[in-house]
Amino acid sequence: MFPDKVKILLRIIQDLLDKSKKQRAELREAYTLVPSSHCRRRALCCTMLPEMSLIEALAAIQCLSEMDPITRLRLTRGLVRYFFLNSVRITSCPFLIDRNCLIYENRFFGCRAYGLWPKHYYNELAARSHQMKRYNQEQWQNLGISLPQEVADFQVSYCPHVKLDGDASVDDETLPHAADKIELLSRQLAPWHESFRHSYFLDLSFLLASLVFGLTEAVQMKFAFVKDYVKTGNQTGLSELVGNLPDVFAALI
Ligand code: SF4
Repeated sequence: MFPDKVKILLRIIQDLLDKSKKQRAELREAYTLVPSSHCRRRALCCTMLPEMSLIEALAAIQCLSEMDPITRLRLTRGLVRYFFLNSVRITSCPFLIDRNCLIYENRFFGCRAYGLWPKHYYNELAARSHQMKRYNQEQWQNLGISLPQEVADFQVSYCPHVKLDGDASVDDETLPHAADKIELLSRQLAPWHESFRHSYFLDLSFLLASLVFGLTEAVQMKFAFVKDYVKTGNQTGLSELVGNLPDVFAALI
């Protein structure tokens, strides 16, 4: 039912899921190194899909494959839409529905660590990300497309409302230690770990769009959609395309 190139990539993902059971179990342990916390859960921080390593992307795909088909298809389509529009619109993380994270128990390291970094360190990370966005904006500009300034400048600001549970504490080593552990687990999936970083820029939504359309085609389509959106604000073509996407992860077990 799927074209051959989709089947091939799905087979690779299935193979990676089979081979990464141990690493995914250890990923759950690594998450416990991040002290549990609570916040007002207003989900204002969930405006972007966080960057993630391959092992975390696989854990999210496993979650998707175990969901009921309606939710899975909704999230799959949301991820693809997010990939095509995230350069021109500030939306929300595709896993956020009605202000609820649908993968909350399995959310990524970036989500767990948010609000726990020392403020100065978080601001350094945010400044680096801002630089990258500016660079990205220049690349689009070189292609003749002016991205909206508010999107290029958008940053999730430091949150002072995240509080540690009980007597948990976090020092300068806690989060880097957890991040290193996750990175090491993901590296065990070489060479796909590096491919995910270099070909998909640690972006699950890009992987998914490439799975459905092919990598080069997904990039070309993004260019066309972004160009059209900047010029006309029109999303009709994208909505039709996304609305017809098949349930690709239904084939995974
Ligand atoms: S995965 Fe969940 S917690 Fe993380 S940004 Fe998305 S909605 Fe928020």
